[in-house]
Amino acid sequence: MLEELKQEVYEANMLLPKYNLVTFTWGNVSGVDREKGLFAIKPSGVPYEDLKWQDIVLVDFDGNKVEGNLNPSSDTATHAYLYKCWEDIGGVVHTHSSYATSFAQSGRSIPCYGTTHADYFYGDIPTLRCLTKEELEEAYELNTGKLIVQEFAMRSIDHIAVSAALCKNHGPFAWGKNPVKAVESAVVLEEVAKMAYRTELINSHVQPAPQYLQDKHYMRKHGPNAYYGQK
Ligand code: 13P
Repeated sequence: MLEELKQEVYEANMLLPKYNLVTFTWGNVSGVDREKGLFAIKPSGVPYEDLKWQDIVLVDFDGNKVEGNLNPSSDTATHAYLYKCWEDIGGVVHTHSSYATSFAQSGRSIPCYGTTHADYFYGDIPTLRCLTKEELEEAYELNTGKLIVQEFAMRSIDHIAVSAALCKNHGPFAWGKNPVKAVESAVVLEEVAKMAYRTELINSHVQPAPQYLQDKHYMRKHGPNAYYGQK
C-alpha cells in the first residue's frame, strides 16, 4: 500500500546523509497521506546504506504500525502528533545535526542574524524546554510532540513561518509541506545554526538583523506579494 509515498519518504531519508545531517542512524524522515490518515516513516535503527524503499513503515496518527516488516522509528509518536495537530504539514524530519543540536543542548534559540535565516524562517528558531521526568516516563515521544505544538501555540509562533524547533538536550525537529521540503528546512536550519555560532564567535555583542530586513527577506519569498523566483 502507498508505494509511491514509501518511495518518496525513502528518497527524502537518503537526502539526510547526502547533506551530512546524520551520523550512523541518528535521524528519520516521514511523509503523510492525509486521505488515508497514514504516514510513512523510516524504520528504527536501520543504517542508511542498508535502507530500501520497501523497508519504509506505514503507521496511523496514533503511531500504530499498519504495514511493514520492521519497527518504525522510535520517534514515530512525535511525528504522529505533529501530523494530527498541524493538518497543513506533509513531512517531518528529526536529526542530530551538529550545530542545531549544539544550540538545543545549550538551551538557546537561534536568533536571526541575517538574510540566510530570514529567507526561510520568520524569527528565532525556538529551543523548547526539556521534558520533565514525569512527562518522559509517561510517554516520551508523544509528549515531545505535545510540547512542540503547545509551545508554538503559547508563544504565538506560526509553524509554517518557523518550520523547525529545537528540543532542549536532544535536537531538532523540522517539517514542511512534503518530506523533501521538511528536509530542506532541516538543511537550512543546520546552516543557519552554524552561521549563528560563527557570527557570535566573531562578534560576541552581535544583535539580530533589523526587523525591517527580516520582514523584507521573508516576505519577498513567502508573503502575499512574494516575487522571489520564477512564476
Ligand atoms: P530511530 O532510528 O529510531 O529513528 O532513531 C533515530 C534518532 O535520532 C532518535 O532520536
